[in-house]
Amino acid sequence: DLTINKIAAGEVVEGPYSVIKELIENAIDAGASNIVVEIKEGGQKYIRVSDNGVGIDDEDVEIAFMRHATSKIEVVEDLNSVLTLGFRGEALASIAAVSQAQIITKPKEQLHGVSLDIVGGDIVNRQEIGAPNGTTIIVKNLFFNIPARLKFMKSSQAEATKIGEIISRLALSQPNIAFKYINNSNIMFTTPGNNNLEQTILSILDKELVKNLLPTKIKTNQIEIDGFISQPTYVRGNRNYEIVFVNGRYIKSKLISKAIEDAYKEKLPINKFPVCILNINIDPNLIDVNVHPTKTEIKFHEEQIVYSLIHNTVTSCLRKNVT
Ligand code: ADP
Ligand code: MG
Repeated sequence: DLTINKIAAGEVVEGPYSVIKELIENAIDAGASNIVVEIKEGGQKYIRVSDNGVGIDDEDVEIAFMRHATSKIEVVEDLNSVLTLGFRGEALASIAAVSQAQIITKPKEQLHGVSLDIVGGDIVNRQEIGAPNGTTIIVKNLFFNIPARLKFMKSSQAEATKIGEIISRLALSQPNIAFKYINNSNIMFTTPGNNNLEQTILSILDKELVKNLLPTKIKTNQIEIDGFISQPTYVRGNRNYEIVFVNGRYIKSKLISKAIEDAYKEKLPINKFPVCILNINIDPNLIDVNVHPTKTEIKFHEEQIVYSLIHNTVTSCLRKNVT
């Protein structure tokens, strides 16, 4: 079973970046209002994600590390309407199979916490300990037991850049959660967690950008959009700042990018892209989150409806604000 875990894990765990994404999504699913992420050396040596969420009951800690163990889904039909970020029950098992991991967790109604050490998928230590409410997961020496993967790791600088990007995306998608991100002992950013998207943007992205953002908001019975788009004069050379969340999930969607860019059309210089941070809430039945294991690509059942709604919202915001 350990071998199966290791093989599967190689596929699920792309690198430090994907470990962090999974751990933060678990913390969000656990209802945390406070999440601290710390990395060292691009995350390959050390990753820590601490949250103040619901924690895991003493008798469930080992189970959480078993493949296909998830507390988030009851029946297969649920897959179409999942609102939690995780639902496959694969992440913890996979991460623990290819690293030296430690979990410390305590639900608030339990007096003691549990600490578990797992090396390459083997539980090597279990202890009852005092702990704050919530969960801390530490992942050290990722891929220590898969030399082939270690060899093909990106530089820690490149990996840290990707990690900073995903943490900031997740923090922007949850302005109600206070995030702190520490890289090699430097605090990179802290967000207020006061549910104010503008202040959250300000705490993460540069001030010049924030000055050039226009608030955008609509609400119909099918869709709700809330966020900011940039003045057409404030553009970027790539799509990195087209930041879109659907039902709280950071996603990439060619359809949504196209709807946004088409709305800017003649207003944008050639090969330039707008900046936008859009929170889109949509009837979960209109989306299909199950298309790709890493879940950043999503598909819509009614593409034309989604395209028009987003296109029209951005168009009317630009018409109102840009002369
Ligand atoms: P999934 O998120 O798909 O359910 P994971 O492997 O990521 O699968 O996690 C397995 C289970 O462990 C979750 O369903 C949840 O019950 C528990 N869990 C993981 N991380 C946390 C956390 N930070 N706080 C509370 N429970 C957690
Ligand atoms: Mg998960």
